[in-house]
Amino acid sequence: MKRSLGLYVHIPFCLRKCAYCDFPSHPGQMHLREAYTQALCREITARGEALGHPMADTLFIGGGTPSVMLPEQIAAVLRALRAAFPWEEGYEATCEANPESLTADFLQALAEGGFNRLSLGAQASQPRLLKLIGRGHSWEQVAEGVCMARKAGISNINLDLMAGFPGQSLKELGESLDAAIALKPRHLSCYGLILEEGTPLSLAVAEGSLQLPGEDAEIAMDALIREKLGKAGYIHYEISNHALCGFECRHNLNCWEYADYLGFGAAAAGFYQGRRRKNPAGIQDYLDGRAPEELTVTAEESRFEQVMMGLRLIKGVGGAAFERRQGMSLMEAFGPAIEKHTAGGLLAWKEGRLCLTEEGLGLMNLVLVDFLA
Ligand code: SF4
Repeated sequence: MKRSLGLYVHIPFCLRKCAYCDFPSHPGQMHLREAYTQALCREITARGEALGHPMADTLFIGGGTPSVMLPEQIAAVLRALRAAFPWEEGYEATCEANPESLTADFLQALAEGGFNRLSLGAQASQPRLLKLIGRGHSWEQVAEGVCMARKAGISNINLDLMAGFPGQSLKELGESLDAAIALKPRHLSCYGLILEEGTPLSLAVAEGSLQLPGEDAEIAMDALIREKLGKAGYIHYEISNHALCGFECRHNLNCWEYADYLGFGAAAAGFYQGRRRKNPAGIQDYLDGRAPEELTVTAEESRFEQVMMGLRLIKGVGGAAFERRQGMSLMEAFGPAIEKHTAGGLLAWKEGRLCLTEEGLGLMNLVLVDFLA
């Protein structure tokens, strides 16, 4: 059976740091973009040669903010990728962008390089909330970005939204969802805000100057997201992701289905033939050529990871795929945990797949604890 291979490229530059963000992204380092482009191209070329130029079927450029790169820099990275890893026919190639920095020239470089999907960080439609979380763009810029992408020939568009900001009302979330649906993207990611330690937003919450919505409000927000997007024709296929039929993000699907992927750039991680590889997180360390960390995933870790990733999908983990990869069935690997949570109504079997029930979707961590026992 053909194995999928995804490619991930990390762009660690951002114009500013959003108030909730603890991703490996660095404002104030724009002067390093050219050196970073060259280092990326060297890494991609060397890795392609070392692995014998395997075919790739998905590509994802994320960050950070890829749209702060100059069009010629992104074009150079794309040339290196295509030369090192031939792209399968029917491939999916996504680039993330921030509406604040997205330009028609950048989109043209993507389209000419063969990109066919854009993921735009929109987050919320209210200026008040965008300001609160430190985003430097308006909703008008989101709409303009969608329009520019379509003009450049990239019509497969995802919008990222967030729910659960301090002070966000259910009505405001509903307005953001309506505004996003009106732009007719093919995919919508709706992430619940996670308070990451040390970020300005988590400090403000700890000091009491901002309050998060309570658990009941979060449940109501999840229900509203599912209801509005369901009515608009989006299929809920992963905990935080919704797509029109046939437009699920294949790159992320491959990751959730535990396929191999290679990561390039500072802080990028990969998983290839049972080994994990993580590049140094700092831009300068990466530019200086510091070696990546490598480790072999044990059989036990691999079984747990495949379940942990697969349960994120609404359709769940495929029993046959698990057995093919792990050499044992889900019941042989995790019988007691599966029996406990199917009896308790948090897990169910559907067409040979093990999935979280609607109640289980909000309690995934509780379920997973028993798979670790
Ligand atoms: S644009 Fe994205 S990566 Fe950059 S600071 Fe904001 S959330 Fe983090």
